[in-house]
Amino acid sequence: MSLIKSAELLAIGTELLLGETNDTNTAYLAGSLARDGVDVYWSQRVGDNLERVRHSIEQALSRSDLLVVTGGLGPTGDDLTREAIAAVFDEKPGVDPELEKDLRAWFARSGRKMPEGNLKQAWLIPSAQALPNPLGTAPGWLVQGTRGGKPRFLVALPGPPRELERMWTQEALPRLPLVPSRLHRLTLKTHGLGESSIAERLSDLTESSNPTVATYARNDGVHVRIATKAESAEEARGLTAFVEGLVLERLGEVVWGRDEDELPELVVKLLQQRGLTLATFEESTVGHLLGALSAVPGGQDSCKGAVVAWSLQTMAALGLPRPAASRVSRPEYAVSLAEAIRDTFAADVGVAVLENGSSDAGRQRQATDEAVIAVHAGGEPAALHLILPPLPVAWRRERITNRALHLLRSQLK
Ligand code: AMP
Ligand code: MG
Repeated sequence: MSLIKSAELLAIGTELLLGETNDTNTAYLAGSLARDGVDVYWSQRVGDNLERVRHSIEQALSRSDLLVVTGGLGPTGDDLTREAIAAVFDEKPGVDPELEKDLRAWFARSGRKMPEGNLKQAWLIPSAQALPNPLGTAPGWLVQGTRGGKPRFLVALPGPPRELERMWTQEALPRLPLVPSRLHRLTLKTHGLGESSIAERLSDLTESSNPTVATYARNDGVHVRIATKAESAEEARGLTAFVEGLVLERLGEVVWGRDEDELPELVVKLLQQRGLTLATFEESTVGHLLGALSAVPGGQDSCKGAVVAWSLQTMAALGLPRPAASRVSRPEYAVSLAEAIRDTFAADVGVAVLENGSSDAGRQRQATDEAVIAVHAGGEPAALHLILPPLPVAWRRERITNRALHLLRSQLK
């Protein structure tokens, strides 16, 4: 039997082209296929139009072993995926008695009368087998055929992501003869160097095609992905490890994690290992820092609490220091606040995250592109003055929270 080495994705729905729905299905399937070592060279989006859907399917089957189609399996007139597939394979759809029984039973269970339009969800063509969908009324299709003498597979999945993900993992993947995975991937996560500096240090590696080395700027720093294909998974792993060694020689000091590592988890682990607790004063991050740390399983035990305040009266009432003068250095003030918040909560580590606006009494909140972070962990305190590009508020908070986590990590190590 010939194995599936290449795949292509087709997301169907006019809402995707209007920007009303984010095409998360494509990202999900692309990730899944990449992890399985199947090459995906093309991915398309097309609106609810029979002729264009048919054309896209034809094109995909002319060049890829497997096509995964998502969406357009609903009961309404604009759900045309079944019609398009039937046209491509030149077969006539008919109601499958088993599927019809299941469909009517679904409606009976939910106490609703089945609109006759739903009957097309019980259609099959001779080359298709149905993929069960316990989460909805639309079964999927797995179609096997040939194109230009080559075997081809087509999987049609419903659009709603929950239904799609279950059907893909539980029903489709077990039925597909994918090539055994010969791919190994590793991601190294860095902090402290820009993407172009990293790319410069790795330029000879990023130019090679196997293993491929690629850099990605993310919220928590620049990620370096190494991906290797080989005759066996074992060989792929060995080659990846070799290149990992080269990358670490050049970037070792800025690598903080790999693969699934997340910053909040790493910081909580460091706190736990050293038996330390933490408290925060969060002006710019409004509690996000403590929120991220306490969301880690077991993290709450290391978190004593957070204060989010802007008014000087509140700060005075809490016994927190106020800036001595409007010209006082913000980093210095942040350090004193980090120490004060640590003492207030009787914690071991204090963190302060401040705006870098005016520090006059009654100061007004203003949009600013600066922030100051200080960490006081008993020894020498550390402070960081951040200059940020203008960002939407949610991104800005995330960015500052990540920088605070990095500073914490470096202080705890
Ligand atoms: P459909 O199978 O076309 O009836 O799609 C039903 C619903 O699934 C749509 O209304 C969307 O909310 C969702 N959906 C469809 N396609 C996608 C996609 N590519 N990514 C994420 N959600 C989708
Ligand atoms: Mg649709």
